[in-house]
Amino acid sequence: MKKIPLKSHHKFFGDSKDFGGQYTPEILRPALIELEKAYKKIFPSKAYQTELKDLLKHFVGRPTPLIYAKNASKILGNEIYLKFEGLANTGAHKINNAIGQVLLAKKMGKKKIIAETGAGQHGLATAAAAAKLGLSCEIYMGEIDIARQRPNVFNMELFGAKVISVASGTKTLKDAVNETLRVWSKESSETFYVLGSALGPYPYPDIVRDLQSIIGKEVRKQCKDYFSDLPDIMIACVGGGSNSIGFFTEFLNDKQVHLIGVEAGGIGKATGQNAARINKDMRTGIAQGYKSIFLQDKEGNLSPTHSISAGLDYAGIGPQLAYLASIGRIEFTSALDSEVIEALKFFAKHEGIIPALESSHALAEVINISKKTKNKKIIANISGRGDKDIFITAKAINPKDWEKFLTEEIKRIKNVRVKDEK
Ligand SMILES: *Cc1c(COP(=O)(O)O)cnc(C)c1O
Repeated sequence: MKKIPLKSHHKFFGDSKDFGGQYTPEILRPALIELEKAYKKIFPSKAYQTELKDLLKHFVGRPTPLIYAKNASKILGNEIYLKFEGLANTGAHKINNAIGQVLLAKKMGKKKIIAETGAGQHGLATAAAAAKLGLSCEIYMGEIDIARQRPNVFNMELFGAKVISVASGTKTLKDAVNETLRVWSKESSETFYVLGSALGPYPYPDIVRDLQSIIGKEVRKQCKDYFSDLPDIMIACVGGGSNSIGFFTEFLNDKQVHLIGVEAGGIGKATGQNAARINKDMRTGIAQGYKSIFLQDKEGNLSPTHSISAGLDYAGIGPQLAYLASIGRIEFTSALDSEVIEALKFFAKHEGIIPALESSHALAEVINISKKTKNKKIIANISGRGDKDIFITAKAINPKDWEKFLTEEIKRIKNVRVKDEK
């Protein structure tokens, strides 16, 4: 069988230039050319790679463990392993990318980092990386997202980042992206834009994949501690696609390994109820600098999406994953919000881990596939830990006690303020 290319070719994935590219306004051209040069010269250099390796070990905390899920394996009838990115600094795989891009910025001589964030996870990782490497940092975030993601805003500010509220459009991620691009086009000589997933204009999808592929490289080595051959099935959740492409890349040309990406099935199949982009009606389109598969209406406007997990709640998918879906190398499924909560509870109870809601989509598929398939070696990527989700999970699992706690917490805050004012 033909070998699958691991990188883009002339900025695109696939022979007919269906996925990827660089669809940006003229004004961003110089910034992207400079970034491409840095990706080709600085990124592969020994100086950069040595420093990155050191940061991944001593700051991020890599390698993250591959855990044999013994109890779940017994119940589900498969041999299940969990790659636990939740133990990386700031709680998810996003730091692998953020620290790599901020280091690249520093080597390019940039003084300032900018990034956009929706739920705040990418903003958090970027702010941490900028703090570590001593660069100033601005995070652009929709006004509505700032209001509903207070804990992450609080932590970004602790890291010394300035969180800038975007009040245009829908006041959410899409508008934050537009604002970040606008700022970047104005001040790219001193500023670096850290993009958070394996998407956007070339070369970002390649840079992010290369930085995240540490996940799959470690898995390949760690498997050997448990068994001598390759896994049968690998499963990861797919938002923009960075944790999944990072997990899968090392195995793309091992055709006997069945790769499964899990999208947000949300609350149903109707438009606006999910973020499952790979479906029987899918169409390619162009948005936010790249060509890929998008959830869109007849005119090509991006459709609204829904997911219980903020990280999977996006209308587009990284171009390389769209390509790999189109040639059938990766199978795509989806998990419903309700299945995700059940999977979270199951793995917490039996394995002593709290996966992020995003990662729980992969675990929901582990449970679903185990209804059909037995005695396989399955590895699921736990892209992050679930501490960040407590405001959603506590409400979904035990709303009464959670409401009582929050109500009393407000009283406790008021008492402190009354005392302070005396
Ligand atoms: C952001 C996020 C995701 C989704 O993003 P990808 O780019 O698809 O990986 C998944 N899991 C966690 C924990 C996240 O924070």
